[in-house]
Amino acid sequence: MDIKWTTYRIKTVHPFGISRSTHTFYDVVFVYIIDGDIVGRGEAAPPIRYGETKNAVLTQLETKIELLADYDSVAHLIDHLVLHSGGLKSLEAAISMAALDWWTQKNNIPLYSYFDADPSKMPQTSFTIAIGELETIPQKISEAEPYPILKVKLGTSQDKEIIQAIRRVTDKTVRVDANEGWNLETAIEMSFWLADRNVEFIEQPLKADSIEETAILKRKSPIPIIADENSMVSTDIPKIAHAFHGINIKLMKCGTLSEAQKMIRIAREYEMSVMLGCMVESSVGITAAAHLSPLVDYADLDGNLLIGNDPYLGVLVSDGQLKLNDSPGLGVTPIADPEGLL
Ligand SMILES: [Mg+2]
Repeated sequence: MDIKWTTYRIKTVHPFGISRSTHTFYDVVFVYIIDGDIVGRGEAAPPIRYGETKNAVLTQLETKIELLADYDSVAHLIDHLVLHSGGLKSLEAAISMAALDWWTQKNNIPLYSYFDADPSKMPQTSFTIAIGELETIPQKISEAEPYPILKVKLGTSQDKEIIQAIRRVTDKTVRVDANEGWNLETAIEMSFWLADRNVEFIEQPLKADSIEETAILKRKSPIPIIADENSMVSTDIPKIAHAFHGINIKLMKCGTLSEAQKMIRIAREYEMSVMLGCMVESSVGITAAAHLSPLVDYADLDGNLLIGNDPYLGVLVSDGQLKLNDSPGLGVTPIADPEGLL
């Protein structure tokens, strides 16, 4: 068995703007565990917000990562590799995906079976309308025509104008993500204003260090408040349960698929709703998350739909509905074959 990796630049269809930044490309690292004919695939999409970079992931892989000669189980192998991942959650995610893809292919079962997830219970995914020029909204809404749920990035100086422009052309369900862009006063006012415009919930309205203010907002807001930047790993949940109605789990924040599964379990103990989200990623990362999606309430797994050069084919989306094939493992295949991609 061998472990390999390569970098790849994913390019967005539209510049991807959120409250703190705008990007036209992201560098990801694909990790492969190779065992004879079997290739287990994983993806690290290093989140800049949390200080992770492609170079940090590569350095860690080059200097610290080695497969174990002897291991008791796939969980043991993953634990060993995670121990040498330098705390880089995106690398932990990539390693966990690649190892579980390899192991479930070897055992001829789809990855969702490993997590006891029922693929007939997959949710619909929302489709993101990122921050950009107001004039581009009608075109973006028309491109989002197949998707029944829109996730709209706010936290700008034109938040009401953006929602008004959307509501002029569609009455679809809208979810809002302010990406820490508001203060308490704005958030309270916006929660009522958005509730009147059929917005389902608000994600991370306040800065991650404003937990007590978020708790005040939770008591006042007529619609649910969901944690993203405040919900990294399972140990965060008890600390924020009083301030949020739900959490957004992302593999690139929490690391392994098992940690994501643990977050789902703990959130349920606190009677919190659960969303499964993503970074801008290829179909490798998105498909891995999709295998857990039957276990959650909301999916926001559109990162691969926002890029124009996805080199893999995996989970499909039809009218917003996520659909996995029942191939063993992740069920992803390369569709482009640039140098280094397996
Ligand atoms: Mg978010």
